[in-house]
Amino acid sequence: MSTKLKPGVQTGADYIALVEACKTGGYALPAVNVVNTQSINAVLEAASKAKSDIIIQLSGGGAQFYAGKGIKDSEKAKVLGAVSAAEHVHRVAEAYGVCAVLHTDHANRALIPWVDALIDAGEERFKATGKPLFSSHMLDLSEESLEDNLAECERLLKRLAPIGMSLEIELGVTGGEEDGVGKDLDEIDNDKLYTQPDEVLTAYRRLAPLGHFSVAAAFGNVHGVYKPGNVKLRPEILKASQEAVSAAEKTGNDHPLHFVFHGGSGSEKAKITEAVGYGVFKMNIDTDTQFAFSEQVGKYVEENAKAFKYQIDPETDEPYKKKYDPRAWLRKGEEGIVDRLLVACDDLGSTGKSLAG
Ligand SMILES: [Zn+2]
Repeated sequence: MSTKLKPGVQTGADYIALVEACKTGGYALPAVNVVNTQSINAVLEAASKAKSDIIIQLSGGGAQFYAGKGIKDSEKAKVLGAVSAAEHVHRVAEAYGVCAVLHTDHANRALIPWVDALIDAGEERFKATGKPLFSSHMLDLSEESLEDNLAECERLLKRLAPIGMSLEIELGVTGGEEDGVGKDLDEIDNDKLYTQPDEVLTAYRRLAPLGHFSVAAAFGNVHGVYKPGNVKLRPEILKASQEAVSAAEKTGNDHPLHFVFHGGSGSEKAKITEAVGYGVFKMNIDTDTQFAFSEQVGKYVEENAKAFKYQIDPETDEPYKKKYDPRAWLRKGEEGIVDRLLVACDDLGSTGKSLAG
């Protein structure tokens, strides 16, 4: 019998069941960066339409925007925004009839106080309701030494595991810049762009005894969209890491690791399918849904240019209220996100696979 989960936010054993179902079912879930209720609701709507489970995530910058640029203390705004966005998802996700995962995105050294504050909030929520705020956080210390990176991963995972949370770590550098985190390709050593299997094995040995974790692996992926040909994806790197861990640790399964695909915008479908076959269960999507939203809003503004200049047409006296009402054009943007994510769910094989029952 296949696993069924209660619709809504998944944490703890239910989150792990969802990740395992992806692996055994040979599919992955889109992990979409959100910045406001428009993007959150559109992501949930897409998941509902595709009958796919979904991952909703916030970067530090996205969380700050969610709370509002008017808050002067940006560190405080990052925490408030992430808490507020997560609570919004906890409130509405069940009504969309799918399973949702709540994640945070790249936290480098400077963003660790943000993650700790969110774990504080998660512990509080866990005490009160039995459920933490997020399903998993992400720590990205891939530019530091492996030792420094793993020491911090251990510290955080020891806090996360007792409240039913997971940790995404990064080994090897994903090129390109995302929300102020990341580096120019020219500045990175070439072998740092490809995760080394021996590093993955070291991470597995240290983290697996502490709790559930996933690995953002570098296999030539780059954040953002570049001209075709600039990026050479080598998903076989993931396979090598799976084999190294499976053989050394005698895990008894081919795919002991849970991989996350960053910087996948503009990737060929065949490479995505190959990566999913090697244990990728989460593929981050930001650039493509940003464009999908803005493209549709842009089209609407072009088609209704006068409604963005006049409340009443100066020649025909036609009132434009219905056209400039933000709900009209924000909805176009939402529809753009939905359409793009229906394609993503198909590409990742998650369409029709929701475990919600
Ligand atoms: Zn990323």
